[in-house]
Amino acid sequence: MGGVDRLDQNLACYMIQHRSKKWYWPIFRFCVDLAVQNAFQLYRMQEKIPGAPEHDLLSFRRQIAQTYVQTLSMKKNSVPYPPPRVAVDRRVLTEVRTDATDHWIAQGTQRRCVALGCKGTSVFYCEKCNVGLHPGCFKAFHCK
Ligand SMILES: [Zn+2]
Ligand SMILES: [Zn+2]
Repeated sequence: MGGVDRLDQNLACYMIQHRSKKWYWPIFRFCVDLAVQNAFQLYRMQEKIPGAPEHDLLSFRRQIAQTYVQTLSMKKNSVPYPPPRVAVDRRVLTEVRTDATDHWIAQGTQRRCVALGCKGTSVFYCEKCNVGLHPGCFKAFHCK
């Protein structure tokens, strides 16, 4: 059986099963399958390494997939993807918060009260700190 026959046969056996409406998907899929197929032929041609696991095409493909999954999940731990959105820093500098100068309560849009232990929302906020606060939380927030 010639190499091309084997290629066709193997490709038919283990084509990536995935339905997609994207026109380029079959081409991409074919390229991936072709690359894997070529790699597998090279793998078979190489001298057997004593003790190395023997692969048929299926386990060979599985090995490739597992390697990618492992590599990507390792990367995930160091560089999270998607990158975390930078949280809006609602905290106020302690020096500003406790300087007891020009902290005026004002009414605006509903927002989260930043007072420690308060999980509610308030239409009131501190003009200087520009953070939501209940009138009842206002003093505690501005104390040391
Ligand atoms: Zn303030
Ligand atoms: Zn509050």
